[in-house]
Amino acid sequence: MILQDWWFTTLLGMTGPIRPPLRDNIKADVLIVGAGAAGVAAAHRFVGSGKKVVLLDRNICGGSSTGKSAGFLTPDSELELSQLLRKYGTQGAKDLWGVSAKGVDIMVDNIKRHKLECDLQVQDCLFLGKGAGGWKDVQDEVNAREKIGYSSTVYKESEVPSVIGSNVYSGAIRYTGTYGVDPLLYAQGMKQVLLDGGIEIYESSEVISWEGHTVNTHLGSVTADKIIFCIDKPKPDLTKYYETVYHAQTFLSISEPLGDNDIAKLFPQGPLQCWDSDLVYTYFRLTGTKRLLVGGGDLMTTYAKNDTTMPRVMDKVIRGLKEKIPSIRNLGFTQYWQGRIDMTRDLIPTVLVDPEHPWTHFVLGCVGLPWATFCGDFAARNVLDDKELDNEKYYQYFSPNRKFMIPLWLEGILGKKIVFTVNNAWAKYRQKNAE
Ligand SMILES: Cc1cc2nc3c(=O)[nH]c(=O)nc-3n(C[C@H](O)[C@H](O)[C@H](O)COP(=O)(O)OP(=O)(O)OC[C@H]3O[C@@H](n4cnc5c(N)ncnc54)[C@H](O)[C@@H]3O)c2cc1C
Repeated sequence: MILQDWWFTTLLGMTGPIRPPLRDNIKADVLIVGAGAAGVAAAHRFVGSGKKVVLLDRNICGGSSTGKSAGFLTPDSELELSQLLRKYGTQGAKDLWGVSAKGVDIMVDNIKRHKLECDLQVQDCLFLGKGAGGWKDVQDEVNAREKIGYSSTVYKESEVPSVIGSNVYSGAIRYTGTYGVDPLLYAQGMKQVLLDGGIEIYESSEVISWEGHTVNTHLGSVTADKIIFCIDKPKPDLTKYYETVYHAQTFLSISEPLGDNDIAKLFPQGPLQCWDSDLVYTYFRLTGTKRLLVGGGDLMTTYAKNDTTMPRVMDKVIRGLKEKIPSIRNLGFTQYWQGRIDMTRDLIPTVLVDPEHPWTHFVLGCVGLPWATFCGDFAARNVLDDKELDNEKYYQYFSPNRKFMIPLWLEGILGKKIVFTVNNAWAKYRQKNAE
């Protein structure tokens, strides 16, 4: 198994251009820094607006978290619906599930409208419970969906083998309206759409400093009326809001292609995108090229400060899945890679207008492609002063001044890792903001 992001391998067939770095000092109406799911969504909103828009990325478009992700397009993220319901009450859960559902819609609409070749797969979600605790998690999800009025199908222990080739799970919940995608081909496909729409794009262009309306890269600069930062792993010298961003690390691996008989054994009713109720959950789905994508991690590496590249973590995840699903026991896995997902202490993104630089917006800590897509689009609509945008509704969730269990100043005493772990667990399992 070699250390290489599979999605980068799929780029080899791409005909679109890699954009050169910015080498001049240029002016723009709007500058967007960061071309992950959030940045491309922000830039897309300006197509046809008549504004001169520049998009910069230090890597290639989608080259960071977006292009490392597993490409599950689901409103589910680190917070299940039942957790949103407990935390924010019925209206809050509807609002926030609505945010990521809208993100899914925007992405799928882009793929269909622009005919992006990025391996779009219609794949229902299947959340698999393990043991008594896992069955309770499944039931919590079923109850939450019923309360909010979303449909789902529930499978008891004896029924699970009808949808997944395993008899170790204690139950499962399935729902529709979800997709799988090659996220790097999506971002690169959107790059071409943006270029065609008149957006100027520079890749390999890291913003290293910023003063007033001007940002500097290694070789050039952009002076813009409005700036939207949709960056990951923000550095302290770029913004004080770097403090609000934390990370969780996860690993992914891709298999050799499966034969049709093996696929039928694994997914008797057709391919699904799955994850389980283990504390560091395992997730898997089939790509359009019939390869099995498997992700997961362990507690030792989840909160690591930097990217760790230990194949043993992936080996353990794969071994665990093979024990649960006998038909894949002989399946070979060829590549693996890791990535740190930016997140906040309560797992909800932070979107803000910087009070000291009111022409500047930040989109930070989005967990999930759909959340990032919604938030990038949201920030762009703000810049365009879209009157239909319900700012009050969304900023109550996204504001950096919302309440957290442990305030930032305690981090100096307790350390970042502890503050994040406690806040994170509190947000997932205890927090109640409403009802
Ligand atoms: C291994 C893995 C698996 C995942 N699986 C899924 C999944 O299946 N489904 C899902 O929905 N989500 C998944 N995620 C999470 C998802 O990838 C992220 O939440 C999402 O991509 C965030 O998008 P973003 O645009 O906010 O950030 P990013 O994609 O990280 O984009 C930020 C961009 O900013 C650029 N940048 C940063 N600093 C600068 C600078 N100073 N100058 C210029 N450019 C800069 C970066 O190069 C980057 O391209 C996964 C993540 C990982 C790592």
